[in-house]
Amino acid sequence: MAREISAGGVVLRFLRGRWRLAAIVPRRDNDDPGKPALALPKGIVDAGERAEQTACREVFEETGLKAELVTKLGDIRYVYTRTWGDRARVFKIVSFYLFRFASGKIGAIAPEMQHEVTEARWIPLDDAHRLLSYRGEREMAVKAQEYVANHPELR
Ligand code: ATP
Repeated sequence: MAREISAGGVVLRFLRGRWRLAAIVPRRDNDDPGKPALALPKGIVDAGERAEQTACREVFEETGLKAELVTKLGDIRYVYTRTWGDRARVFKIVSFYLFRFASGKIGAIAPEMQHEVTEARWIPLDDAHRLLSYRGEREMAVKAQEYVANHPELR
């Protein structure tokens, strides 16, 4: 089976008394209609890149945010079928890292990224485990909730 290795970020910001998480609405291709997904920023790990660098780069490209690495949260795995090209089954591993917001305006992304991302917005961290579309990403949100509960100094 084809394999893909990606990395992504759970970016948190403490704003008006609660933790917020940066979520994106990925643009779907024409072969994949249906309700828009709410997801975490992520992307393929390029040759020579460390996974946490990929995560930080993808966070910036897909959300417009600069973020500081806090810790690794975990890896998720899934299988999907490509809707383009070879229509191959793909086994995918995505490593997720926790970041703290540093600067930038959410959704202020380059025009070339707007082909991949419809929208980026802050959602309450406490709602993320039910708002995010994919089970593995929901689990990362729960891990982030646990981390901030155990690290009050992060605020
Ligand atoms: P990347 O963001 O890593 O460059 P991509 O946009 O090419 O990747 P995916 O986001 O992996 O590809 O999406 C490929 C397919 O897998 C889509 O049908 C998507 O709905 C589905 N998918 C995406 N994330 C997950 C997940 N965490 N669990 C299950 N299916 C997922």
